[in-house]
Amino acid sequence: RRVGYALVGLGHLTLNEILPAFGQSKHAKPVALVSGDPEKMRKVAQQYGIKPSSCYSYQTYDNLKDNPEVEVIYIVLPNSMHHEFTLRGAKAGKHILCEKPMANSAKECEEMIEACKKAGKKLMIAYRIQYEPLNRMAMQLVRDKAYGKVKLLQMVNSQNQAHDQQWRHKKALAGGGALPDIGLYCLNTSRFLLGEEPTEVSAQIYTTQGDARFKEVEENVTFTLRFPSGVISQCMTGYGTFNSKSYMVHCEEGTIKMDPAFTYQGLHQERVRAPKSKQLKETPNDPMKDQFALELDHMAECVRQNKTPYTPGEEGLQDQRLMEAIYQSARENKPVKLPAVSKLDAFR
Ligand code: NAD
Repeated sequence: RRVGYALVGLGHLTLNEILPAFGQSKHAKPVALVSGDPEKMRKVAQQYGIKPSSCYSYQTYDNLKDNPEVEVIYIVLPNSMHHEFTLRGAKAGKHILCEKPMANSAKECEEMIEACKKAGKKLMIAYRIQYEPLNRMAMQLVRDKAYGKVKLLQMVNSQNQAHDQQWRHKKALAGGGALPDIGLYCLNTSRFLLGEEPTEVSAQIYTTQGDARFKEVEENVTFTLRFPSGVISQCMTGYGTFNSKSYMVHCEEGTIKMDPAFTYQGLHQERVRAPKSKQLKETPNDPMKDQFALELDHMAECVRQNKTPYTPGEEGLQDQRLMEAIYQSARENKPVKLPAVSKLDAFR
C-alpha cells in the first residue's frame, strides 16, 4: 500500500514539481490538499483524483488528524510558516516532510524536532540534492577518496530573482535573502559531500543599494567553511545574476565538476582523473531519475520500515545554526568558530 501524502501550499514547487513527481514515485501518492485558495484547490484535486472531503484550509488543517488516508504531511509554504505547520501537523499525529530551509531560526528548528519526537512521528527536511543520483555519486567518490584526498570545494548557487515572488523579499516570511533560499544548497551540499561538520565560517555580504528587491533581504553572500579534515569550501550565492548552479571538488589526483548541480533537471557531471600526470576525462550518464520522486519514496520507505530519514530535522537545525554563524561573521567582519559536532551521519 502506498503512503498517503497531504500537500500543504499549492505554489510553484507543489504544482510544477512535487505533484507531477508522484507519477514517477513507487511508494507515495497524494491523498489530501491544504490551501488558502479553494477554487485552485478544487481544480488541482480534480486533476489528481483527490476527494473534495480531503481538501482543507489553513484553518481546518488540524482536522487531518481524522483522515486515516494521510500518513505524511508535506509542508511547502513560505519559510516562516514551516514551524507552525510542523507543530500542528505533529499534533495531528502525522509524519512531517518539510521544505528547506527548515525554519527561520535554530530555536524554531529545535521546537519542530521536539514536537515530532513527542508525537512519536518522523521529521524529514526536503534536501532533494541528497537523494539525486549524480550528487550521490559525487559524494561516494569523495568519501571513497577515489581521486585522492579532497582539498578544496568551490560552490555557487545564484539566480536573478524576480520581484513577483513577494514573500522571498520579505524578511519576516523568508528569514533572509539568497542565503536561506539558495545559498543553503552550497552549505548543505558541502557538508553532504564531505560527511563532516565545519569548525569555522567567515562571510561577507553585499547588497546593491536602491534595488527594490533587496530592501529587507540580502542579495549576495560569500562564505568560507573550514572543515576538521583541512578542506576549505568557498561558497557564493546571489539573487542578482543569471543562473549559476555548480560546484567543483578539487582532489589530489583529479576534479569532480557538477554543472549544473542544483537544478531540477539536466544535471551534468564531468570528472578529470590525473594519476601520474595522465589526464582521463569521465562523464557518467545522467540517470534521469526524478529527484522529487526519489525524495517522496525515501520518506515513504522510512514510514513503512520505521527508519530515520537520511535528512532528519537535525540536518536542518545544523544548517540553520551555520547560517546564523554566517550572518554573524558578515556582521562582525571576522571568522566565527563553531563548536565541534560529531558527524551528523550518526543519525542515519
Ligand atoms: P510559492 O510562493 O510559489 O508558493 C507558496 C505557497 O504558499 C502559495 O501557494 C501561497 O498561496 C501560499 N501561502 C500561504 N500563506 C502565504 C503567505 N502569507 N504569503 C505568501 N504565500 C503564502 O513558493 P514556492 O517556490 O513553492 O516555495 C515554497 C517552499 O518550498 C519554500 O519554503 C521554499 O524554500 C521551498 N522550495 C524548495 C525548493 C526545492 O528545490 N526543494 C524549490 C522551491 C521552493
